[in-house]
Amino acid sequence: MNNCIFCKIINKEIPSKIVYEDDKVIAFHDVNPAAPIHILVIPKKHIETLLDVSEEDSNLIAYIFQIINKIAKQEGFAEKGFRVIANCGEDAGQEVKHIHFHVLAGKKLGDKIVE
Ligand code: AMP
Ligand code: ZN
Repeated sequence: MNNCIFCKIINKEIPSKIVYEDDKVIAFHDVNPAAPIHILVIPKKHIETLLDVSEEDSNLIAYIFQIINKIAKQEGFAEKGFRVIANCGEDAGQEVKHIHFHVLAGKKLGDKIVE
């Protein structure tokens, strides 16, 4: 269908370390972690950027945050805390054109979100 690396992960065409999966969402460890815990949570629906999120995706986006909540408890970092980041477009450095939420945890994260 497309050349999207995250769709390939969803379709198990390339390997990933999956931490959660259901019919709508998959979450896996980032291959180049920026924190001791760095998980990417993505919808199985291919949506290129946050600008492509439509009204019909509202439930899906809310659902992703329920899953992030579940993963935080499952992986044991809920109590200590975590940060969620979603990059959109060039200035944010979005590399993969399939929306994804970075979940960062496992250490005291920097005070500054951006440099
Ligand atoms: P972004 O810059 O927001 O588009 O983030 C893309 C993220 O995907 C980066 O943190 C990459 O390290 C990560 N990434 C790219 N390819 C893979 C892969 N095959 N498995 C896991 N994470 C990946
Ligand atoms: Zn995709």
